[in-house]
Amino acid sequence: MSVNQQTHTGPPYGQPQPGYQGYQQPAYGGQPLPGVPHSQYGVYNGPMPGYQQPVPPQGSVRAPSTSGTSLSSGHLGYSPFGQGDVQNGIPASTAPMQRPPASQPFLPGSAPVPVSQTSMLQQYGPPPASVQQLSNHMAGMTIGSTSTSAPPPAGLGYGAPRPPTMPGPPLPVQTAAGPPTSQPNHVSSPPPPPSTLSGPYPGPPMSGLRGPPPPTHPPQPGYQMQQNGSFEQVRGPQTNYGGAYPGTPNYGSQPGPPPPPKRLDPDSIPSPIQVIEDDRSNRGSEPFVTGVRGQVPPLVTTNFLVKDQGNASPRYIRCTSYNIPCTSDMAKQSQVPLAAVIKPLATLPPDETLPYLVDHGESGPVRCNRCKAYMCPFMQFIEGGRRFQCCFCSCVTEVPPHYFQHLDHTGKRVDFYDRPELSLGSYEFLATVDYCKNNKFPSPPAFIFMIDVSYNAVKSGLVRLICEELKSLLDYLPREGNMEESAIRVGFVTYNKVLHFYNVKSSLAQPQMMVVSDVADMFVPLLDGFLVNVNESRTVIISLLDQIPEMFADTRETETVFGPVIQAGLEALKAAECAGKLFIFHTSLPIAEAPGKLKNRDDKKLINTDKEKTLFQPQTSFYNNLAKDCVAQGCCVDLFLFPNQYLDVATLGIVTYQTGGSIYKYAYFQLETDQDRFLNDLRRDVQKEVGFDAVMRVRTSTGIRATDFFGAFFMSNTTDVEMAGLDCDKTITVEFKHDDKLSEDSGALLQCALLYTSCAGQRRLRIHNLSLNCCTQLADLYRNCETDTLINYLAKYAYRGVLNSPVKTVRDALINQCAQILACYRKNCASPSSAGQLILPECMKLLPVYLNCVLKSDVLQPGLEVTTDDRAYIRQLVTSMDVAETNVFFYPRLLPVTKADVDSDSLPAAIRNSEERLSKGDIYLLENGLNIFVWVGVNVQQGLIQNLFGVSSFSQISSTLNTLPVLENPFSKKVRSIIDMLQVQRSRYMKLIIVKQEDKLEMLFKQFLVEDKSLTGGASYVDFLCHMHKEIRQLLS
Ligand SMILES: [Zn+2]
Repeated sequence: MSVNQQTHTGPPYGQPQPGYQGYQQPAYGGQPLPGVPHSQYGVYNGPMPGYQQPVPPQGSVRAPSTSGTSLSSGHLGYSPFGQGDVQNGIPASTAPMQRPPASQPFLPGSAPVPVSQTSMLQQYGPPPASVQQLSNHMAGMTIGSTSTSAPPPAGLGYGAPRPPTMPGPPLPVQTAAGPPTSQPNHVSSPPPPPSTLSGPYPGPPMSGLRGPPPPTHPPQPGYQMQQNGSFEQVRGPQTNYGGAYPGTPNYGSQPGPPPPPKRLDPDSIPSPIQVIEDDRSNRGSEPFVTGVRGQVPPLVTTNFLVKDQGNASPRYIRCTSYNIPCTSDMAKQSQVPLAAVIKPLATLPPDETLPYLVDHGESGPVRCNRCKAYMCPFMQFIEGGRRFQCCFCSCVTEVPPHYFQHLDHTGKRVDFYDRPELSLGSYEFLATVDYCKNNKFPSPPAFIFMIDVSYNAVKSGLVRLICEELKSLLDYLPREGNMEESAIRVGFVTYNKVLHFYNVKSSLAQPQMMVVSDVADMFVPLLDGFLVNVNESRTVIISLLDQIPEMFADTRETETVFGPVIQAGLEALKAAECAGKLFIFHTSLPIAEAPGKLKNRDDKKLINTDKEKTLFQPQTSFYNNLAKDCVAQGCCVDLFLFPNQYLDVATLGIVTYQTGGSIYKYAYFQLETDQDRFLNDLRRDVQKEVGFDAVMRVRTSTGIRATDFFGAFFMSNTTDVEMAGLDCDKTITVEFKHDDKLSEDSGALLQCALLYTSCAGQRRLRIHNLSLNCCTQLADLYRNCETDTLINYLAKYAYRGVLNSPVKTVRDALINQCAQILACYRKNCASPSSAGQLILPECMKLLPVYLNCVLKSDVLQPGLEVTTDDRAYIRQLVTSMDVAETNVFFYPRLLPVTKADVDSDSLPAAIRNSEERLSKGDIYLLENGLNIFVWVGVNVQQGLIQNLFGVSSFSQISSTLNTLPVLENPFSKKVRSIIDMLQVQRSRYMKLIIVKQEDKLEMLFKQFLVEDKSLTGGASYVDFLCHMHKEIRQLLS
């Protein structure tokens, strides 16, 4: 079933989720228990926020017009722009305010014509009739896997046709299956081998290699199974092959003689596509039931259903290994990092049950007296149920009288299945006032929209676009459960060198502007009327949003401030005593005189020097300090950047990063080409579920503890991860280290507790529990690893490393660690064999290819056109990514759409990311979570080109298109539906780029063919595998 066809079917526990039923169903827990009192769950107020509420449309299908077209009608009622009593009602004494410059006429002299308003409200009113369809679309978005279509027929999609059958570019050496000559193979390799070798695997002498001789070896795969499923390379690299890798990161980058006609057969080395397809067909059909300790979940690329039976769903927590070495010595020996990638507020697919909300009333959740762990399925009740022993610290705690329950003959409480905290891996507690700041229940959060109105922002049409969009978007603020309207209040600020605050109090006939020009000591000039309820102040807000673009239409101000903007938002939230989010739309380096002023310090010459790290570091500590204040207030900052030049993302992004916010970046923003992407991102960002003022702590059972954390957050001590805001897409990665021996019997336990304020201001605790196995044999560790999660962790580790170490050091350390991981396996787990063999653990056979992708990524090895800001942006982005996102980011998905079945909903089978897999006669989509490329071969049939692009020949295809034309034919519909399907699976709207074969843009596209050697010197997969093999052999010798 394809993702956008999914409808709300019943959750695993029997009943659909709407309203309260999901919880009051006695069937919850899978075992109907008649007579169970449900009152204790009475607080559960329907589905979790953001889940049941009508989901606003996304994408091009959304009805309210995005911009432009509606503007003229919207403005009809506002003829008297630029006149009138500008600042009526503003007490002159409140602040050192100034009137806007005369060139910025402000505020109409009269109220808008009512008729015009009505028409506007209608225009941006209720969602169109197609909302159901759109909801389904959105629902599909929640699925974490990268592909949700039915598995393609076995045998398709990987191991693309070999060169002889491919009408691809001419290959220099047929038998070598190598890339075209334009991509020189490993240039510094030794001279061609003796001609004694024949067949498709020419290579140097096979000294040290085992396996059948070339003419008789099996054509595919080139690995044979080891006893425990590991792969054994039958045709390993030659001993002298690695000579080209003297530890330099850019090996192979020097020009050299033409490539020798030798290399490993790409079809003989582990294929990501094959692994993904195998997991889909093996594990995609059965639900993943979480009742058993230490189970490795299906891959993130597999579409599967989760049934919570006592452990958190892999949508919430994924681990690098589900079987932890019992001792720290073993762990060190293996070098396998023990880490969990946690996504506490992950969105679930519609057919899975959201965490239930448990209310223990004034006494609050039951916790261990000593370590404060929360009641969970692993707590052991003793003494007839009067006490329980903590599964984390072994301390015995009295069961509070109100929580007492008898035990059955197995020692299990008889209300086991009625209480989520006893039987499920994930659930929520309603927090008592003890869990609130200043012992006071929180107010609902606020959203403040802060719009740069400097020259570039106005000129590009951005200001108008944002204002138009907000008029409709404000009706889609997050709502709790079945509440009729959002509890979130909104406020508006515009700024350039000075800040303009707006009073949009419902009793006003017109909005009022207050200018604060003293940006050195920011304050908020008004309290009453700044943060308002959208419905109450609708008329005034709409009026304001109509007027802002006009007010600044003639601005000549090019300079901006930035620090004071965040300070203003922070002060406003402080004054309102609430948490919230700032949405800042910003265009340039803040060079105006103000706190947090920056200078242009971009210097690409620093790349590959010891000073490269400074490019990732902030240029001032001002924003770190500001971030700390923001976190203390629960002020999360989301940043939408529209730069035409360097604006120092590394510095501007600090507050966003440390408050748990998101950065979106639209370089050289042009209305025509970028507005869809921006508006889709903005809509999703405004609407998504966010927990405010959040604190996360991970508790572990005795023997291991959380020692390191990665993600967008702030930490003021060594255990509490603080986030002003945590949204449903963000992950926190936690690394664990031993502090004692573990036992195979008891295993290891994690409990992640997230305390947060919901969008309606409710204070809650979300608890996720996970039990892992422990082992005394290394083989058990290697059998239960998950490479996708390992890569997620390693990328984050490396991306943090570049802040403090030269990039080369970071790259070398990554390679070394992975070589040690694989060498330890080879030494301790694989059956004895000659040193010439490369033997990879089955679960890690993709480690080399994926690691190479991380090493070639823009942060660790910048591509040709990559800017310093891009690198800082990617660095921050990856740090919060979940496993599915890093998987497709580092190894993009490449789909041959000309092979797609136009009559089916499924995706065509993906192929490996290599140019030699591309056929000149086909069209491909490549997506990595940020971009979608449409690659068109030079020999594509004219009919296909006509059907997809509406032009009659290849040469007429415009590569400036950023969307495919809507044409009424099956092929066009199919390709567009695939693109839509990919878009809804990603947390950001991907940019569409048309690439014609042999066109200039193809250089950019080729960087994403990650199995090939890259233009900036990144190794091909084959070469890198040889390099890893050499490293491993060195470690073993
Ligand atoms: Zn305890």
